[in-house]
Amino acid sequence: MFNLGNVSVPSSSAEGEKRQVKVLILGSGPAGLSAALYAARAELEPVVLTGMELGGQAGLTHTIENYPGFPDGVGGPELGELFQKQAERFGAKVEFDSAVSVDLSSRPFKVTTENGEYLAETLIIGTGARPNHLEIPGEYEFTGKGVSYCATCDGWFFKDKKVVVVGGGDSALEEGLFLTRFASSVTVIHRRDSLRAGKVLQSRAFNNPKVNFIWDTVVTEAAGNGKLEHLKLKNVVTGAESTFEADGLFVFIGHTPNTQMFEGQLEMRDGGYIVSNHLMETNVAGVFVAGEVADNHFRQVVTSAGMGAAAAIQGTHFLEKVAAAE
Ligand code: NAP
Repeated sequence: MFNLGNVSVPSSSAEGEKRQVKVLILGSGPAGLSAALYAARAELEPVVLTGMELGGQAGLTHTIENYPGFPDGVGGPELGELFQKQAERFGAKVEFDSAVSVDLSSRPFKVTTENGEYLAETLIIGTGARPNHLEIPGEYEFTGKGVSYCATCDGWFFKDKKVVVVGGGDSALEEGLFLTRFASSVTVIHRRDSLRAGKVLQSRAFNNPKVNFIWDTVVTEAAGNGKLEHLKLKNVVTGAESTFEADGLFVFIGHTPNTQMFEGQLEMRDGGYIVSNHLMETNVAGVFVAGEVADNHFRQVVTSAGMGAAAAIQGTHFLEKVAAAE
């Protein structure tokens, strides 16, 4: 998490008080803060509600080595602070607050937060997604100490180490194959005996000498002393339990977008991702989306930032059209 230095923590508003804003942005990941930069440069004085995770998933990432402009890599929290600073330089306000409910039935949109209420002429949703967790003992204790949800972010730290990947989808195989660049071995543990992943990835994984598979098996516990050292496994067919030594446990069992509060108001597709067109527009005029809340395919800092910029540009055009029609 990046520091709270410039983030204002608003005091509870008086009952009934509603803040009117031209652009309200939900989420302080790369999507939300890039949208803030563009909306601020359009002099729309955007307000960003950080949500509970400052900087989003990128803010939890140790080092980001694939964001252009940083040839030596940049810390996730540091990059978040730079995004924020740049947006604030042009007038964006970043507030440590979370939306709890929205009413998108008419404009201005009503957004109720932990600390008050906003009336927003446009809304940019960048609330992101969270990786699904196994919810097993030791998983939280060893997160950042061997347990990870991002090979691109953390793979480098497992040079010549033995890692386990959980999952049988495209993410598990793609990220598992990426991990073979660093790890001495990558063992994919899948709860069934066949993979969900596409055939091309399957064949690449089967042909990679560093990749092994353990079928019909689930991980039931992560354990170690200060850092991950071994996993407890259970064969779901025979019930047999075993211990497996591992330095890393990478979990890729899908993501869940943070879209619950928009259910019934915005069109969504499988898995709860918000449907948008290439202009980042949703089915509600004036509501835009950016980043993982709408994208379960690329899921990169650079693509989320690009979507944030696009959403703010379209939001600006939308407000211009509304003003011209009045
Ligand atoms: P996914 O396709 O939903 O696969 C999740 C995998 O995790 C499945 O194999 C599932 O097992 C397993 N799983 C789920 N819950 C589990 C649990 N509690 N314990 C153990 N295993 C569990 O998710 P994804 O791989 O992240 O892919 C998401 C979407 O992005 C897909 O549409 C995918 O095609 C796309 N994607 C594409 C690419 C690419 O084209 N290169 C790369 C990444 C993602 P079961 O199979 O038994 O259900």
